[in-house]
Amino acid sequence: MGRDKRTKVERHNYYISNKEQINNVNRQWYLNNKERVKENSNRVRKELRDAIFLKLGNKCTVCGIDDRRCLQIDHVKGNGSKDRLAVGHGRGSTRKYLRDILADETGSFQILCANHNWIKRFDNGEIKETEK
Ligand SMILES: [Zn+2]
Repeated sequence: MGRDKRTKVERHNYYISNKEQINNVNRQWYLNNKERVKENSNRVRKELRDAIFLKLGNKCTVCGIDDRRCLQIDHVKGNGSKDRLAVGHGRGSTRKYLRDILADETGSFQILCANHNWIKRFDNGEIKETEK
């Protein structure tokens, strides 16, 4: 940000008149760097998750189990899926979601083990009748 001195309109016009070429360059770059992009976003995601787990106490809020293999980030109010929808599912949406959780200061998130997450969802009626 700030490096490009052109105005928004100028940039937009440039994009419009060079759309094809820009898109090709971008696509080619992505294809050439696919693995790196994937590795990088996996790494960022892992770092974000690590930071969130650390912030939220690194263990299940209910039983205290600290085995990361079964720990999950839980939305205290139980509307995680709605939040997820608001963020969308495009490229980078998971990172955005994780950043939001990390930035949250309202105590809306907690760590639960898979068992307690499941039990909570069951108790909250979040499980469809057919899954019971
Ligand atoms: Zn638990």
